[in-house]
Amino acid sequence: MTIGAMVDATAARYPELPALIACHQGIRMNWAELRETVDRLACSFIRLGLKPGDRVGIWAPNCAEWALTQFATAKAGLILVTINPAYRLSEIEYALNKVGCRALVSAQRFKTSDYVAVLRELAPEIDDGTAKLAAKRLPSLEFLIALGADAVPGFARFDDLLTEPADTERADLEALGERLDADEPINIQFTSGTTGAPKGATLSHRNILNNGFFVTEAIGLAPGDRLCIPVPLYHCFGMVLGNLGCLAHGAAMVYPSDAFDPGAVLDAIAGEGCVGVYGVPTMFIALLDHPDCGRLDLPSLRTGVMAGSPCPIEVMKTVIDKLGMRDVTIAYGMTETSPVSFQSGMDDPVTRRVSTVGRVQPHCEVKIVGPEGETVKRGEPGELCTRGYLVMKGYWNDEARTAESIDADGFMHSGDLATIDDEGYGNIVGRLKDMVIRGGENVYPREVEEFLYTHPKIRDVQVVGVPDRKYGEELCACVIASDPSLTGDELRAFCQGKIAHYKIPRYVELVEAFPMTVTGKIQKFALRSQMSQTLG
Ligand code: ATP
Ligand code: MG
Repeated sequence: MTIGAMVDATAARYPELPALIACHQGIRMNWAELRETVDRLACSFIRLGLKPGDRVGIWAPNCAEWALTQFATAKAGLILVTINPAYRLSEIEYALNKVGCRALVSAQRFKTSDYVAVLRELAPEIDDGTAKLAAKRLPSLEFLIALGADAVPGFARFDDLLTEPADTERADLEALGERLDADEPINIQFTSGTTGAPKGATLSHRNILNNGFFVTEAIGLAPGDRLCIPVPLYHCFGMVLGNLGCLAHGAAMVYPSDAFDPGAVLDAIAGEGCVGVYGVPTMFIALLDHPDCGRLDLPSLRTGVMAGSPCPIEVMKTVIDKLGMRDVTIAYGMTETSPVSFQSGMDDPVTRRVSTVGRVQPHCEVKIVGPEGETVKRGEPGELCTRGYLVMKGYWNDEARTAESIDADGFMHSGDLATIDDEGYGNIVGRLKDMVIRGGENVYPREVEEFLYTHPKIRDVQVVGVPDRKYGEELCACVIASDPSLTGDELRAFCQGKIAHYKIPRYVELVEAFPMTVTGKIQKFALRSQMSQTLG
């Protein structure tokens, strides 16, 4: 089934149930209203001259128009390119040109940024105000669409695209819907850029609609339920697990705010009676720390998904006790697998829900392989590979990279090291590229980092491998110290006898900060090359 057909089906089954609630904008729609608005927008996209397969970017924080654009592009067979609102000049230029966007939906000015100003700097031609943009630095971009009430020169107004279409246009849209295929690409999402430049993963209706369905099936989402979505929509967490999960189950998408705000999240859960809320562990910590957390009654809240990074057990226990989220689950995934491949169950014991990433998703296979591509013994670490409906179609316009990542048998190689225990629970050990091989011994930086964290003078630490003539690689601990008197000798003495000798860092470097992606992930590859230069 295509995403457009799912919009029609959900609207036909549950016309009166709530579909979309954007608390910060005061917008509410039921499924019948949502379908009508989406159809109007899809007709306008076609009227502009956009054709199935064309790329349409969206570069805006969370808002109702974001979801409308997602569903309308899907209905019109357009490929939605979801762009991080934190991107700045060079990043937006890279993203739009990498995939050749013909149209861009963007906000005018939100708290976080003045999008129009950035675009104008990149493409001064906008001021010419002609119907079609012809900008030197953005050669494929023709149409600019602005959210917000004010008219912006050079931009079409989003609200003007919601006018009543002609009957013939509606008929064309319906005919198009019948031709669209669920295996066609419908979305390009950029990876976070943790290990290099972000890659554009091309995803189909089948990929993401199914993944959204299964992840929310696992938390028991039902028609009429309301789901609080404070995670960013440009990322698969929001647009697949949030928006498509709600669409597939006839539940309502509730957006508390444009940028994450713990107080607004608590108000939205209490005010709308949400059954679930999504977040990365740090968001849940912020919710628990908020003064309203103890004051507000949240009787409806029982479930959610926590994903993106490992969750400390104390946080998980408090989320269950203090927020009442007894059915909260953990998920692991990557952009290239739509995203989720592992998820814990609502019935798994709490310790399992924090110490593992749960079991493999329905209709999806995994294998763990060693360096020669051989399947390792159960329980041993190796590279996690996934096969099934969830594997992306490929990296946009990059066959070589696609062939490196998806093997001849159709398995997507994750680049993550993992183990799977006897009962099928997965554990993410770290990234393959981050593993250090010192004198033939495999060292997993996360294990060493977790031990070093226990030193009182360490605020944060990253362990990387640097080239070494004798051992191939040596360990270097990059430390953000809470006490600058910390020395390498002191830290090595601390390790002596407590971790294996080959895991003790030969080098200890004090740093001020780590290189980060715009999404806040630490770029070890950049740290590794910095350290190799410093020490080499
Ligand atoms: P890039 O591929 O551009 O280097 P990235 O891999 O960080 O960036 P994403 O696709 O956003 O881009 O993130 C997927 C990665 O996030 C996974 O490969 C894994 O390393 C990490 N990850 C996701 N969920 C979890 C989890 N529950 N526990 C541990 N790590 C996780
Ligand atoms: Mg990746």
